[in-house]
Amino acid sequence: MDFQALLDGIDAELRPQLGREGRVATYIPALARVPTAQFGIALRTCAGEEAAAGDSAVPFSIQSVSKLFTLTLAMRLLGDALWERINREPSGNPFNSLLQLESEQGVARNPFINAGAIAVGDRLLTALGADAKAGLLRMMSGLAGEAIDFDAEVAASEAATGYRNVALGNFMKSFGKIDNDVAAVLDFYFHQCALRMSCRQLAKAAGYLCRDGAHPSGGAGPVVSESQARRLNALMLTCGTYDAAGEFAYRIGLPCKSGVGGGIVAVVPDRLTLCVWSPAVDDSGNSVLGTRALELFASRSGLSIF
Ligand code: GLN
Repeated sequence: MDFQALLDGIDAELRPQLGREGRVATYIPALARVPTAQFGIALRTCAGEEAAAGDSAVPFSIQSVSKLFTLTLAMRLLGDALWERINREPSGNPFNSLLQLESEQGVARNPFINAGAIAVGDRLLTALGADAKAGLLRMMSGLAGEAIDFDAEVAASEAATGYRNVALGNFMKSFGKIDNDVAAVLDFYFHQCALRMSCRQLAKAAGYLCRDGAHPSGGAGPVVSESQARRLNALMLTCGTYDAAGEFAYRIGLPCKSGVGGGIVAVVPDRLTLCVWSPAVDDSGNSVLGTRALELFASRSGLSIF
């Protein structure tokens, strides 16, 4: 398959639609300033072949795409003990909702909504202590094959305005489901959301998900086991795009993880990993043109798990 021609065709078709639909996530002031008229797409096959088009080398705030990587790190460090405080069911609610936490005694529905990711961060802080943020950066840089860093301005912007996340953290703490100081857990969470990466870097970094857990650069040991990689993909499909997960499975049919920065990582198991980015998002927090790009990719390539 000529992947470069496929991505060029998607870029050419979507570029005229830039800036028409959706809007940037204004509730995080630093994200409100990102110009909307940008679109990037990149993929990397299991064999290491790469293709990219548009603004694929422009770094952006990966936001909730980071939940995929912190979950990966936590599964690696903690194994099944991780699931004592986090469920694995789709929430059907917005990513920052407090609703289910009350009736479910502070146990988050899944690791890809904010409550679940904050609970994962708590476990990582317990496991890694003061090294947690540096440990995450080391993992991301190793996966991407180049230095990855936090965007300090975005992290500070989230810390200054993340009232709902503060509420989620404190609410879970009141149920005894958070071990560490809530402020420290939120500091880790705001930094993971503020990771800055490009489509190309993310397509490479997520490569273990299409390779049964093997490291994207081949030489290093496995990132996760084969069964853990399978489970990460299952969680992406059922919970990776918040309350639009059903619609994503219907329209695209690939495990995906999105973020309000407009990035979406998708996996074609045993074939490739893909990342799309365009900053304007819909009401669920998923990139409008990114979603459309993935839909075009799945229909034109015939690559879907269904
Ligand atoms: N940092 C964002 C928040 O906590 C992440 C949400 C997202 O990308 N959906 O609200």
